[in-house]
Amino acid sequence: MVKQRTIKKTVKARGVGIHSGKLVNMTLIPAESDHGVVFKRLDAGGRQVHAHSAFVNEVVLSTGLESQGVKVSTIEHLMSALSALGVDNVLVELDSFEVPIMDGSSAPFVFLVQSAGIEEQEAPKRFIVIKDTIRVENGESWAQVSPHNGFKVTLEIDFEHKKIKESGQKLTIDFAEQSYLKEISRARTFGYERDVEALQAGGLALGANMDNAIALSDEDILNEDGMRYHNEFVKHKILDIVGDLFLLGGNVIGHYEGYKTGHMLNDQLLSAILSQPQAFSIETYEELESPIHYYSEDWQNEL
Ligand SMILES: [Zn+2]
Repeated sequence: MVKQRTIKKTVKARGVGIHSGKLVNMTLIPAESDHGVVFKRLDAGGRQVHAHSAFVNEVVLSTGLESQGVKVSTIEHLMSALSALGVDNVLVELDSFEVPIMDGSSAPFVFLVQSAGIEEQEAPKRFIVIKDTIRVENGESWAQVSPHNGFKVTLEIDFEHKKIKESGQKLTIDFAEQSYLKEISRARTFGYERDVEALQAGGLALGANMDNAIALSDEDILNEDGMRYHNEFVKHKILDIVGDLFLLGGNVIGHYEGYKTGHMLNDQLLSAILSQPQAFSIETYEELESPIHYYSEDWQNEL
């Protein structure tokens, strides 16, 4: 039987929130079967928010949750790492409202989970198996999931920027064949330097700097050490998609395709999927077949 997974021991990280600029302590704690990924706000009376599509309330620049009057922001890179490593159950304690941005990718979270180790649990792991094509559109942007025996993401972005155009704006990653750790986890978030002032005036991007994001000038990138992948931009957007899809409550078996998508469209897609019960089924598996093995194949490998 393919089993649910948690981490072996408690691990901690500390960093700033990219939007709040606040220093936050984060602790990942092992959790029992069927617990899911749950955030706990130590600074808000220990109130908790379940990492599920039903609680998404922030989708503009990042994905955030709210439940019982308590918010948790910028969860997507941590969710991406947990999804890719197949960690179903973990309690995430925070002493502020935003998950630390670390280096702008999911690699520090992957490393944190690797340091904790992964433990299989008694309960069967539940996969979200896509049965019908579900598509959402917003202007020229669209996103869809369709049946596929495995997990695959095809994304096209379309930025009018010399460096992004050169880097390649379309990519398919088939996670049965390609390693999340090697191909995706190190891709950093990015933004235009010219937008930073306006964002900061609005109380956003207060923690953003070149240690946690790729900064774009009109023609180039400003980070002295350059890019981590030649196509790091589209790879980061795929990293975000892996994180957002995990809000369905389990690892997905299907093919996500999108054009100019973001957290908002991903949230619309999740709501569309969950509102059409014939479009998916929740399955458990007796054996670890290679198409469903994508989430765990290489969790112990080096980044
Ligand atoms: Zn991101």
